Amino acid sequence: MKDTHAVMNTYNRIPVDFVRGEGSWLYDTDDNKYLDAISGIAVCALGHNHPGFIKAVQEQVAKLVHTSNLYGIPLQEELAQKLCQASGMDSVFFCNSGAEANEAAIKMARMYGHSKNIDLPGIIVMEGAFHGRTMGALTATHSNRHQGGFAPFLDGFYRVPFNDIPAVEECIKNNPNIVAVLVEPIQGEGGICIPVSDYLSKLRSICDDNEMLLMLDEVQTGNGRTGKYFAYQHNNILPDVLSTAKGLGNGFPIGACLASGKAAEIFQPGHHATTFGGSPLACAAALAVYEAIVAEDLLANACVQGDRIKFGLSMQLQSSPHVVAIRGSGLMIGVEINRPCAELVAQARDKGVLINVASGNVVRLVPPLNINEEESDFIIETISDLIKGQSVGSPGETQ
Ligand SMILES: *Cc1c(COP(=O)(O)O)cnc(C)c1O
Repeated sequence: MKDTHAVMNTYNRIPVDFVRGEGSWLYDTDDNKYLDAISGIAVCALGHNHPGFIKAVQEQVAKLVHTSNLYGIPLQEELAQKLCQASGMDSVFFCNSGAEANEAAIKMARMYGHSKNIDLPGIIVMEGAFHGRTMGALTATHSNRHQGGFAPFLDGFYRVPFNDIPAVEECIKNNPNIVAVLVEPIQGEGGICIPVSDYLSKLRSICDDNEMLLMLDEVQTGNGRTGKYFAYQHNNILPDVLSTAKGLGNGFPIGACLASGKAAEIFQPGHHATTFGGSPLACAAALAVYEAIVAEDLLANACVQGDRIKFGLSMQLQSSPHVVAIRGSGLMIGVEINRPCAELVAQARDKGVLINVASGNVVRLVPPLNINEEESDFIIETISDLIKGQSVGSPGETQ
């Protein structure tokens, strides 16, 4: 194989190649094993090599892969019903990624605005947000690293600080064209930022009072990640629009944009489409994920193991001068360090744990939802030893 770079140079790749996976573990070309506490960026919810998932995909690939949305797709209907049942939403549009799910949401908001005779409908988005890399989603995103060099962006986006209700109210007062709020229940790429507990409920009331759509980006928080099927279910509210992807297909590419109530009626035939979206194979994969989450009680496991990891790290790191905060919901956990800590990724890998760092200084832990106690403890020991061993800061100083 020639060792030139035929793949476009868009990724800073870590110099390790994995060749197989088994549960929460990945094996490299030298058969070294690593505990996968990043799960392909919160994607492999069932871990690697899950028997039910393998069986469902193998059977479907041998039966029928793709027909297009020109025709009926019974598995799409079945998956949509399961997702609506799990979420309380009314209808689902299937696509292939998180960014695409958000594009569908953005188009829905605009069409909703036009139905109210608003010529230039506006969407409120948040500081620190990440919604994907396509132009609409990238406009909604807020980060120099992702947006730099790609201007001009789309019109009609209004940015306010995350977790700031008065800022949303002020923005609506000043901009009568606003028709929707797009927000992550927990900011993932932004550094596992968790808003105050009534933030979503207050946004819900504001949207109700102003006939605006509450649109939640649950691409990362969805599908059991936080210990509920969707993160808003911690709050007892229902969004109008919900985007999800990542864990939905356990690594098979699939995204979804769910809608409820009046929002579920916005798109009519011809308004939105994608060639690949919701293929029989993608739906079979996502159905297997749904079934495993239910049958294996993975929401409960995400709560139990998530609490175990958070508590274990807190105990180990309570006197560490480097740790600003340990926070999380279910198996979406962040350890904020008091300085940039990208080097921890390689150090953890040397000790056999795969992590990544969000927002420059937050160790992100998003292991598979079916991780067990011993594996959780391995993460706790490895990560806390590493952070305790850091040489920067004044040793002995307490928080
Ligand atoms: C990853 C992510 C996206 C983008 O998903 P892609 O599948 O990479 O397009 C959007 N929103 C959030 C919250 C994400 O974490």
